[in-house]
Amino acid sequence: MYKEKQDLLRKIPSVEKMYNAEPIKMVSERYPRHVVLNIIRKGLDELRENILSGSINEEDLQLNNIAQRILKKIEELDRPSLKKLINATGVITHTNLGRSVLAKRVLERLVEIGGSYSNLEYDLNKGKRGLRYVHVEYLLKELTSAESAMVVNNNAAAVLISLETLAKGKKVIVSRGELVEIGGSFRIPEVMKKSGAYMIEVGTTNKTHLKDYEEAIDQDTALLLKVHKSNFSIVGFTEEVPLKELILLGKKHGIPVMEDLGSGCFIDFSEFGLMKEPTVQEVVAQGADIVTFSGDKLLGGPQAGIIVGKKRFVEAIRKNQLNRALRIDKLTLVALEETLRLYRDKNRAIKEIPTLSMICEGYETVKKRAKRLVRLVKRKQLNEKFSISLTDGSSMVGGGALPLCEIKSVLVCIEPKGISETEIEKFFRTYDPPIICRVEKGKVFLDMRTVQDKEISIVADAINKLGKEI
Ligand SMILES: *Cc1c(COP(=O)(O)O)cnc(C)c1O
Repeated sequence: MYKEKQDLLRKIPSVEKMYNAEPIKMVSERYPRHVVLNIIRKGLDELRENILSGSINEEDLQLNNIAQRILKKIEELDRPSLKKLINATGVITHTNLGRSVLAKRVLERLVEIGGSYSNLEYDLNKGKRGLRYVHVEYLLKELTSAESAMVVNNNAAAVLISLETLAKGKKVIVSRGELVEIGGSFRIPEVMKKSGAYMIEVGTTNKTHLKDYEEAIDQDTALLLKVHKSNFSIVGFTEEVPLKELILLGKKHGIPVMEDLGSGCFIDFSEFGLMKEPTVQEVVAQGADIVTFSGDKLLGGPQAGIIVGKKRFVEAIRKNQLNRALRIDKLTLVALEETLRLYRDKNRAIKEIPTLSMICEGYETVKKRAKRLVRLVKRKQLNEKFSISLTDGSSMVGGGALPLCEIKSVLVCIEPKGISETEIEKFFRTYDPPIICRVEKGKVFLDMRTVQDKEISIVADAINKLGKEI
């Protein structure tokens, strides 16, 4: 056995020999020599490991086969790691898939500002250094009626810096029913700890009363915190204190009240038959001192953490040194400004911001798109290994927003016959561009709500190829 492996190991060609092998030579000129040599070395190392672990056969060691393996790796050089893909999961702001797709106008502005110098921190009127926040503050004030506004890298950062500024070394009172964890390890107790604030939990998981908060208040209390239950719901025998009452309590004791809204939105989706989420304007109007929310959830913009509220608190947050570490980048800032500008006209926002149009799009429109897709599928090319049909189902908002809200949608259902559904799922996932779908009850579903019009023909082609290749 040992000798066998020794013999195989001796068959591994030298790096130089591979570099000069015909198929590799043809492409290697396009890349620096050291880059190609590195890839060859890695390829040969892999071969060596495979021999030692016994997972290789003689054929794999033929020069041409080794060359083909290495060639594949060289071709990878032309493929960036971050790829665009098609979201057929029906989860509209899917955190793993980049949450919100940006509006066309936003993309144009990204190119414009990214490709030039800009007045990012330069006051053109005064000819002096300015603040980057002014480029969105005017819009946030206009849209939410808040006294003041600023932005950081994401909402987790917004919560962290708000707590650090307002309550470091002091107590923050929060209901046990609101100690949420958001996917990707954002947990209220942990963020609280990092901020240096002491968390005082009150009430129980299902019920918290105003008197629970009031009894916990002492001279070390710096903040009353409310966290929006974005990604879960407590049903049954429940009670929570409305923000309004908490604000009255705060006023009585001279303690500010903050609400982490999570997926803040400016549009009342109940007008579209969806569940009622408190809008940012409503929360500001009720008198919250600080409100934090994400830029890329229901808002449909870039990743950002938005902080609006009373001037003296927002200004204190802005002056916090931590802000330098959490500050928003210029590309994000321009994307956010342009997204917010669209909100000046609600109908335009719904039409042009993809997250909003996907949420608000009617069932019939989704159905039309699904039918268009099916028409492009060449029935003759399909084989007996699967069947394809349309079925009703539901999409979700995702990104930890509207957890119970299901939006009626139309799905393309691919039912495997004799092969496994995971094989089909993998075919789509490894397609170019990748198509991410849903697997449920042994079937594969493509939700047409999150597939864009321009992607229909690509998905149809993929289904046609599936018929040939699987
Ligand atoms: C999503 C969410 C966060 C984190 O926001 P990011 O923008 O993802 O950093 C914080 N709090 C709540 C309630 C959320 O829903």
